[in-house]
Amino acid sequence: MSISQAVIQVQEQIAVAEARRSEERYTGEVKLIAVTKNQSLERIREAIEAGVVAIGENRLQEALGKLEIKREKVEWHLIGHLQTNKAKLAVDWFDLIHSLDSVRLADALQKAAQKAGKVQEVLIQVNVSGEESKYGIAPHQLSNMATYVQELPNLRLRGLMTVAPYYENPEMTRPIFRTMYELFSTLRNSGFSDVEFLSMGMSEDFCIAIEEGANLVRIGSAIFGARK
Ligand SMILES: *Cc1c(COP(=O)(O)O)cnc(C)c1O
Repeated sequence: MSISQAVIQVQEQIAVAEARRSEERYTGEVKLIAVTKNQSLERIREAIEAGVVAIGENRLQEALGKLEIKREKVEWHLIGHLQTNKAKLAVDWFDLIHSLDSVRLADALQKAAQKAGKVQEVLIQVNVSGEESKYGIAPHQLSNMATYVQELPNLRLRGLMTVAPYYENPEMTRPIFRTMYELFSTLRNSGFSDVEFLSMGMSEDFCIAIEEGANLVRIGSAIFGARK
């Protein structure tokens, strides 16, 4: 299948999952973020021509090598861990940073955004499964972290992100996504009115994530093929 056919197919699958989502889980229209790590400029351009409007990169350094794509009208999403010493570069490049995972990083982003005269939109990354290999704060830290970020003048807290563990059977991820939705709606109901985005679901499990309330899905291999 070509990249453009794959984009269309994924968008159809998103629409089907959206239609299956219950009324109470409605979090607005679902946006596809095409994850372009390890992809050539040509392949990324093909995805954009097929209708992709948002690009996800998990490494800052790799994104910086894609300056030509920067000229296209696409949003840039940072979906991987960010080191504090790269906060300035990240603020310069990305529209939304999904991977805010520490107070130290929040402070570094605040400082960089202030210098740049920008209000940086961020998501807090939550490690629901508690796997040691995963970044993100623990669910019980979320309330304090959200309050902290809310008070930083140059950061705007827009929502939450998680990376679910890999399971042979994607259905196993459902409880993780459900927990994330609960954290998300608790935040919204406690005065965090800018919180609108729930970033969860990848190629293997995005339909389940959408059913449970995701409105940003990060999809790489289902568009570009398996990574080598
Ligand atoms: C690579 C990556 C994805 C996309 O993974 P696929 O399984 O290829 O869809 C999503 N989120 C993050 C954080 C990633 O690093």
